[in-house]
Amino acid sequence: MNQPNEEQQPSRALTLQEILANALKSTHTHQEAKAGLETKTCARCGAARPADTALRYCDYCSNPFY
Ligand SMILES: [Zn+2]
Repeated sequence: MNQPNEEQQPSRALTLQEILANALKSTHTHQEAKAGLETKTCARCGAARPADTALRYCDYCSNPFY
């Protein structure tokens, strides 16, 4: 369904803050479309994705949430 294309970033040095900011911007519409979903957990390692973030990839193992 949703292809995680944002992961293919140009290889300039992005800080984690910039990556997260980009993720927030690019996933905002997904967040709204999926409003009402409960907190997601990582399918690979089981880590919970905080409900008030727009992370698309697990913080721990980088597995995509979608
Ligand atoms: Zn994980």
